[in-house]
Amino acid sequence: LIEEKNVLRLAIQKSGRLHDDSMKLLKECGIDISNGINKLKSEAANFPIELYFLRDDDIPQYVEDGVADIGFVGENVVFEKKKSVEITEKLGFGKCRLSFAVRKGEEFGGATSLQGKRIATSYPVLVQDYLDKYNVKADIQEISGSVEIAPGIGLADVICDLVSSGSTLFMNGLKEADVILQSQAVLITNQNITPIKRAILESLIFRIQAVRKAKNNKYVLMNAPNEALPEIEKLLPGMKSPTILPLAVEGWSSIHVVLSETQFWEIVQDLKKLGAEGILVLPIEKMVL
Ligand code: ATP
Ligand code: MG
Repeated sequence: LIEEKNVLRLAIQKSGRLHDDSMKLLKECGIDISNGINKLKSEAANFPIELYFLRDDDIPQYVEDGVADIGFVGENVVFEKKKSVEITEKLGFGKCRLSFAVRKGEEFGGATSLQGKRIATSYPVLVQDYLDKYNVKADIQEISGSVEIAPGIGLADVICDLVSSGSTLFMNGLKEADVILQSQAVLITNQNITPIKRAILESLIFRIQAVRKAKNNKYVLMNAPNEALPEIEKLLPGMKSPTILPLAVEGWSSIHVVLSETQFWEIVQDLKKLGAEGILVLPIEKMVL
């Protein structure tokens, strides 16, 4: 028996929409993979992880088979391939939706209007699941790319494809009609990884969560007259409570607080009205709660 190395083997997309964000996330997690990005395989210098660069379609299979221990891949691909893998963590990038689209002038009459239609898609399994749910029979044309041209060349009446901004549909004279799946990149895991690999995975997930929490939050500083502090404190959630420090100027304080981007915009005008000035918003790099 060959003894397995205690290194977590991670499969990521070789090139395409998920590649750069996958590499960026690892970098933000402090994992240094500067060597051999153009090869099929690469190792981190400072973390027990090895990278395999693959077509995204193949990643669920490799993870199920244990050729890789974990993978970064779109949920849309995981659900389409129906492999037995664990979805361990959402990664927050590669957001898109799988939607039906029809010609611009047409109306979409819901699932039942698909009866007898020709549907072009790269996601035949997900489309079939959807049709089955509504007891609708249609003719699915599986094509691997450029699905949006199918109605224009007479290959299909309707398409079902990934959409993010909708501009590709628009440029091809189509419009989004109905969303069947929301998707983003996820971390998937082989169901039988060893306890040692599971421990490495735990520490990777710890880092990913710290990076993601930090992205959603801002470090906010402001100055305010002391008499406004009670009202201002009521507006601020903070990690525990805001930090309040006296300023050199008599009767004034500096307030430091962690807020989500949304929370910040919701309260910034009220803060100003209460007398807060010099409001600064700084990015946070890592956040461990
Ligand atoms: P590969 O060569 O690895 O098979 P691909 O051409 O199948 O690549 P990409 O177009 O690079 O795949 O998309 C990879 C993933 O990016 C998709 O499966 C999806 O999860 C995500 N994604 C995000 N936005 C979009 C979008 N607008 N269109 C397509 N995919 C998107
Ligand atoms: Mg692919």
